Amino acid sequence: MPELPEVETVRLQLLHKIVLKTIQKVTVYHTKTTAHNPFFVSTVTGKTIAHIDRIGKLLIMSFTGESDLFLLVHLKMTGQFFYIDNQKQVSGGGHTISATNNLDFPNRHTRVSFEFSDTSTLYFNDMRLFGYIKVANAMQMNAAKQKFGPEPIHELFSVDDFYEGLQRRKTTIKAVLLDQSFVAGLGNIYVDESLYAANISPLRLSCSLTMSEAGRLAQIAGNIMKTAISVGGTTFQHFVDTGGDNGNYTDYLKVFGKQNTPCSQCGTIISKIRVAGRGTHYCSNCQK
Ligand SMILES: [Zn+2]
Repeated sequence: MPELPEVETVRLQLLHKIVLKTIQKVTVYHTKTTAHNPFFVSTVTGKTIAHIDRIGKLLIMSFTGESDLFLLVHLKMTGQFFYIDNQKQVSGGGHTISATNNLDFPNRHTRVSFEFSDTSTLYFNDMRLFGYIKVANAMQMNAAKQKFGPEPIHELFSVDDFYEGLQRRKTTIKAVLLDQSFVAGLGNIYVDESLYAANISPLRLSCSLTMSEAGRLAQIAGNIMKTAISVGGTTFQHFVDTGGDNGNYTDYLKVFGKQNTPCSQCGTIISKIRVAGRGTHYCSNCQK
């Protein structure tokens, strides 16, 4: 599942590729992706992409001269964007792209395509069909934004507010960090990694964290996300150039997926348990 760093990488790459391009032709291959909106094609055709914003894992596309029209894009479990430039070079990102990905487009997982006036094309592929591209007006776009809490990578992220919020919650710190309305953008992988680096057990009650633990956790979560975004560039692959080089944040993981191997800090075997309904990896010695 794409997490925030992958989504941010997609955003940054698409900014370079499609901003200020005019959509000449839209094809919807599966109407579930466009929320069964019968006016999707006519609404978007002819529009010029002004900007791509992001909150949490939600991408928000805006259009030049259109203050009341947005596209809300969520990759969910398996969403991927592929961009084919006017030299037929393919690049793509989002859900992990494997060697078995069919790079002829459109293919059976293509849900929507946008052809631009420069003959380049953007394809939205989504095997599991949970992802979406929805037309929204300004009110709907703002309502969607309201569902997200602040992001630890944001320069205005307030540790005081974070600490106070933690004190009010009566559940595990793991569950609270996964709640996108509390803090946006931390998925299962980055929650486990952040708690490990902060030496805090995922089983601790959120309200038991001290101010200094909360401060440490917020800073670590922000740093981990920034690092992941900085290396996430390689998940947006240029197939023709590199043949699908697959380096990314998985090389930096210290605890996620490391169950039954020794902790890199103390040698204790890493446990995998279920917390908040999610597979949770932690060191019972380092994390208290
Ligand atoms: Zn340890």
